[in-house]
Amino acid sequence: MLVGNFACVALIVSAWMHASYRWCRLTPRQQQACFGAVLGAAAATSMSLAVELGPGVHFDLRVALIEVAALFGGPLSLLVTAGLAAAFGVVLGGADLLSGLAGILVAAAAGLAVRGWLGRGRTIGLAAVPVFAALVGALSLVVLATLPPEAFRPVLAGFGLPIALLNVAAAALAALVMIYFRRFTLERDVLRAALAQAPDFHYVKTLDQRFVVTNQNLARRYGRGRVSDMTGLSERDLEPGERAEAALAAERRVIETGEPLIRQEERIRGEDGEARWYSTSKFPLRDPHGALIGIAGVSVDITERKRLEQELKTSRDVVAQAMAEMTDGLALFDREGYLLFCNQQYRDLFPLSAYARVEGAHIVDIVRAVTRNGERKDVPPDVPEERIRAAAGTLHRNKDETIPLFDGRWLNLRTRVGDGGSALVVVTDITAAKESELGLRRLAEKMKGLAETDALTGVANRRSFDERLAAELGRSAASGRPLSLLLMDVDCFKAFNDTYGHLAGDECLRRVGACLKEAARRPRDLAARYGGEEFAVILPETDAETALAIAGRLCRAVRSLAIPHAPSEFGTVTTSVGVATATEAGATTPAALVLEADRALYRAKAGGRDRAVLSSLPAVA
Ligand code: GH3
Ligand code: MG
Ligand code: MG
Repeated sequence: MLVGNFACVALIVSAWMHASYRWCRLTPRQQQACFGAVLGAAAATSMSLAVELGPGVHFDLRVALIEVAALFGGPLSLLVTAGLAAAFGVVLGGADLLSGLAGILVAAAAGLAVRGWLGRGRTIGLAAVPVFAALVGALSLVVLATLPPEAFRPVLAGFGLPIALLNVAAAALAALVMIYFRRFTLERDVLRAALAQAPDFHYVKTLDQRFVVTNQNLARRYGRGRVSDMTGLSERDLEPGERAEAALAAERRVIETGEPLIRQEERIRGEDGEARWYSTSKFPLRDPHGALIGIAGVSVDITERKRLEQELKTSRDVVAQAMAEMTDGLALFDREGYLLFCNQQYRDLFPLSAYARVEGAHIVDIVRAVTRNGERKDVPPDVPEERIRAAAGTLHRNKDETIPLFDGRWLNLRTRVGDGGSALVVVTDITAAKESELGLRRLAEKMKGLAETDALTGVANRRSFDERLAAELGRSAASGRPLSLLLMDVDCFKAFNDTYGHLAGDECLRRVGACLKEAARRPRDLAARYGGEEFAVILPETDAETALAIAGRLCRAVRSLAIPHAPSEFGTVTTSVGVATATEAGATTPAALVLEADRALYRAKAGGRDRAVLSSLPAVA
């Protein structure tokens, strides 16, 4: 009977353990009530199988069970267990009903105390087991006091020790089971939570490809509210179609080959119509002896990663395309001066150093290749190594340079230094622009020359003469050095024109102009056409005497041209020259100097022509 009592209690507790796995969805209060109910049922069973120790004296395990309910379940469990035990006692009735109920009451009160002392606020460990068992043993003796006084003494004397020991054993056993069970359920709950709440999709299948367990995400994915709803199903049941068959086929391969499938990427359209990317791994499960027992799988949502990868690829493509299509050369150097990246155009723009312009090359080696191969027109190939290094050292500076190349091309190099210290170089072929710039410059110079030159004779024109005379007079006044002016007029030119025609007259003027140029040899001398057939020569830093000598030479030079001039008394073309000199003493204006020279010229004409006359001196023939 005693063994049967123990066995029945053990059976009920064991049944509870299995059932409690299903109760995990209940609230803590509901679970406490259920726990109390199970122990209550166990107490009732124990009471119905009570061992009769004497007339009207029965022994059962209700005290131990009530204490277990109190310690491991809490007040609610205690209330339910004690309530059920009491109710069952009432149902059983009998002579010891009152003492039985009183015993339950005492046990319940003691249970509260025991829980308050042993259990509150901490996990009940193995160390608490002997204390708890001893307390229950003692309590079982205290409960005996609820027996009628006449029964109490003989029962205590006759059965006190066995009752106490049996209760100690029952309480110790129950507490040990509870503690181990709690540890086991904790581990199980943690594992289950880890699997159920894991992100992504996890599952374990049997070899016939049916789900044993999945996580909540996967159950939700197939529209199943609970993880347990997935058990026994396969993709074919859940979402029949091509994709299910493909997944099953992939699993079959894993089962057949025993080889795992690692991170296979696939694109799946969800219920919302949005396609997402998953990385799926499937691997075989083996028992400790190596036999295949199932298959496990995990699918990770990699949509975001894929999107980023795609974005990166797109932007890379765009950049690569832009760089391939641009006409400019582009090169990126790191902060140490190593070429990180360049486009083909960059290499093509420098044909003699293209071989050195490869990713990973250093700027010093590139500059050396340019220099030694004479690629730059403005840098001799034999410049010393220090100059090459110095030039390379200026890479990390913002700058715009224009360089001439060996083949006549001009390149513009724009360097911009980035935040990280890298240097971006954009190279543009500006040969066309440069050539048109040079052409324009030449044109401007030509225009300037034309604007200053007399078209017929090639000597300076009147405007240029006026400007230069004013400037040289200013300089003369400032320096105190003399300035001389020759004013020359072709003799009897009207008659020349009349005899030989205007074209011959023009030719004559051209030849006289050439003589004039010859006379104005020094860089600052200026030969000019003053107007009509009159010429002038500005002779800076020339005194009157020298100027007169030059003027005389000029007259002779024109005469030596021996241009026939029949109407002239000389038979050839001759000229008359008036000479005037501005000295330090006589600072003067351009107009006054010209007037003075003109007067001297007049005197030369008056004196018989073909001669030079100094404004204040006698004529020189
Ligand atoms: P004089 O010896 O006194 O100077 O006598 P002249 O005939 O040279 O007299 P003047 O200096 O007054 O003559 C100027 C002449 O020069 C008038 C004009 O026909 C001629 N002449 C002026 N400019 C040009 C020109 O550009 N070409 C030609 N062929 N003749 C010119
Ligand atoms: Mg004249
Ligand atoms: Mg004349």
